[in-house]
Amino acid sequence: MELIFERSRPGRGSDLLPPPDVPASPLPEAHRRAAAPRLPEVAESEVSRHYQAMARHAFGVCDGFYPLGSCTMKYNPKLGEDLAALPGFTGIHPLQPEHTARGCRSVLDRAGAYLCQITGMDEMTFQPAAGAHGEFTGLLLIKAYHVHRGDTGRTVILVPDSAHGTNPASAAMAGFTVRSIPSTAEGLVDLEALRAACGADTAGLMLTNPNTVGLFERDILAMTEIVHAAGGLVYYDGANLNAIMGVARPGDMGFDVCHLNLHKTFATPHGGGGPGSGAVGCKALLAPYLPGSALGGGGGAQSIGQVRAFHANFLVVVRALAYLLTLGNTGVRQAAEGAVLNANYLKHRLEAAGYSSAYPGLCMHEFVLTLEQLKKQTGVSALDLAKAMLDQGMHPPTMYFPLIVHEALMFEPTETETPETLDRAAQALEALLKTARENPQALHAAPVTTVIGRPDETAAARRPVVRYGFEEG
Ligand SMILES: *Cc1c(COP(=O)(O)O)cnc(C)c1O
Repeated sequence: MELIFERSRPGRGSDLLPPPDVPASPLPEAHRRAAAPRLPEVAESEVSRHYQAMARHAFGVCDGFYPLGSCTMKYNPKLGEDLAALPGFTGIHPLQPEHTARGCRSVLDRAGAYLCQITGMDEMTFQPAAGAHGEFTGLLLIKAYHVHRGDTGRTVILVPDSAHGTNPASAAMAGFTVRSIPSTAEGLVDLEALRAACGADTAGLMLTNPNTVGLFERDILAMTEIVHAAGGLVYYDGANLNAIMGVARPGDMGFDVCHLNLHKTFATPHGGGGPGSGAVGCKALLAPYLPGSALGGGGGAQSIGQVRAFHANFLVVVRALAYLLTLGNTGVRQAAEGAVLNANYLKHRLEAAGYSSAYPGLCMHEFVLTLEQLKKQTGVSALDLAKAMLDQGMHPPTMYFPLIVHEALMFEPTETETPETLDRAAQALEALLKTARENPQALHAAPVTTVIGRPDETAAARRPVVRYGFEEG
């Protein structure tokens, strides 16, 4: 596809500004550019077509099925966008007097109260800008708690080997040593290994439940008790709360602190790098350490300090509140039940079509397939199948995660998909399995309908070309 600079022709363009009706006043010589800025000169119609063509090459939840596991790419109500665009919310200034922004204050307070109710926590802060930032903030709370009690030998955070990669990364960023806890063959945390890993150096455990293979940790009460008995605290990674919101609460499972990804579960579109909100909730024992904010609330003498300016991405909270108010008490629970039902429906259909689940039985909001056998038999890998899904008008699921499953494909169909969409996806995947057995070469060549087929992903990550080569051209 041609770049906007390649469409440029000298002297072409659109005049948007009327000629000045006041005398021109030239800039002082010292402030002038040596050369005119390098801007593309393109007709207005060409600009429209250029960006429209780029939009067509992107794929989002409004284009088709998007079952990206551990990421919750669901359809978010457009109502939330309308409300977040209200001038009363967009036209405020973070430093204006609080009595002139009471409505905004009330949005934060109400959203915080509802999310505390949903998680079973006592306090909530919206400062963290994303999930990983929330983990970092929550871990600083845990650290402050131990340090404040003079318990400075607690330097280790325990993290199950199935955890999202941000967990060990956040723990390391917060200055802790990470100790990995193995999973059982069933895909659950090994209770004995957890017991053995706990000791006087344990600052806490980070846990996702349902975990990142989509299973509910049945022994959760025993786990939080083991950690508490050793003097540690327990962190809940609630990035994807879809499976349990309105049904079960981290606070009741014994967790002391959690984060939620409002940009996954609570109606802010996710992907493309933000803006997000990794709201952090905690029990009363951690409340004194919560980050403060310039607009008041939190931030006492023991606070860990601000982790972001003002109230962070406020409009994300507006969408979350709109979502909660439209769903209501029963709707929140229904959404969770729908997420679990859809995941189990698709899992069952794919198993019936000949796919192997990494973990049999009921799942929560997501499940993991393993293509290990298929790869041995046909040479078709999880990557090949994911690429072939693109040609079927579907976004691939999460690939090669969690790391403990070989040739993993992790599906999260979300509660917003209809049975017909799930049926179509199951049929398409069944057909791809047939192709894999009969003509594996076809899948190695996929995708054939997209603008770019298979980029060199290593080179794209290590040596990205993000600047147009004017000098060469
Ligand atoms: C997405 C996710 C995170 C990280 O959230 P970001 O907003 O991407 O930083 C953490 N844990 C789990 C389980 C996740 O799915």
